Amino acid sequence: MSEIVYCRRCLFPETKPDLFFDADGVCDACKSADRKHGFEDAINWDKRKDQFKAILEEAKKNAKGKYDCLVPVSGGKDSTWQVYAMKKIHGMNPLAVTFDQFDQTPTGVHNLEVLREIGVDHVHFTLNPNIVKALVKKGFEIIGDHYWVNHVGIYTVPFHFAVNFNIPLVIFGENPQFEYGGPEASRDNLVMDRAWRQEFGLMRGLREEDMVDDDISLQDLAMLQFPADEKMHRSEVLGTFYGQYFKWDASIHTELIRKEGWRSLPCAPAGSWVDYENCDMKYIDIRERIKYLKFGYGRATDQLNIELRNGRITREDSLIIAKETDGKVNPDNVVEFCKYIEIEESEYNEIMDSFVNYDIFEKNELGEWTLKHERK
Ligand SMILES: [Zn+2]
Repeated sequence: MSEIVYCRRCLFPETKPDLFFDADGVCDACKSADRKHGFEDAINWDKRKDQFKAILEEAKKNAKGKYDCLVPVSGGKDSTWQVYAMKKIHGMNPLAVTFDQFDQTPTGVHNLEVLREIGVDHVHFTLNPNIVKALVKKGFEIIGDHYWVNHVGIYTVPFHFAVNFNIPLVIFGENPQFEYGGPEASRDNLVMDRAWRQEFGLMRGLREEDMVDDDISLQDLAMLQFPADEKMHRSEVLGTFYGQYFKWDASIHTELIRKEGWRSLPCAPAGSWVDYENCDMKYIDIRERIKYLKFGYGRATDQLNIELRNGRITREDSLIIAKETDGKVNPDNVVEFCKYIEIEESEYNEIMDSFVNYDIFEKNELGEWTLKHERK
């Protein structure tokens, strides 16, 4: 491969899956930001706000039990904000549902406690830890994403609760295709359903049934399978993204929930630039390292791009930070992660190497993977 082409405005490379560039070399995540901030093809936020109001009124009317909406919550900043917004700003009566994560951090545990301050009913769902461990290992080996089980759990288990408790509305945070780029039709998508989950729910093409083996039965995965269409229709459950109706600004949300007691991490994780993201995922650095080896960019780039598009940092400064930060891993996490999934570090290294994109990486004299061409 010749040199990677980068977006002219942000740091995204052409190697990022589902990212498209216009004729001027600007990526669609940057174009979405333009629309969000009222430039070209601007989103009519007043209209979207009215749409949301109508959805809430409909949900209140259709609620058959105690709750008029459900908010999936992980302990991260986005989901805590969601609960806060639904309860305190929109006057709804949400049920918070947590799909317990295998690598929850002490900060994440604390942040889930903050829900008590906000004052909502809260359900923790813990999938059989033996099955979770097997799925973590498989996700890591096959697609280089040990969070497969978390993604599927977060986007699926809440719908089971919604169907069974007759809750008409499930509210997710931002639409990842809008904020981070994705196929055109998905960017303005307001509805989150089975089809969305299948294509964009970060499953990376692995379905639940692909995970079945001698140790994992389809029965074990029942809660990770989306409720049947007829159940969804009968219960008239609508899933949607809050970020499609209101201008999403994580830094403003974070300030608000801090007042409720929410905390960021003691410091930014290895490979990240900010301390207020992924507070609930201990091994985020390992996942992001694999992303870096596959596509040549990591978590710091995602975070810097958002600040860049909000005009809070220059492209030049971002690039310096991204080069220093992307793809870094905390060695203690590697030791702990290997212990958890019961593999040797040599096996870990082989798996990591199996994801290296040889078109863009080469080994230097120290045996480290480095990009063939300097990022620019
Ligand atoms: Zn861009």
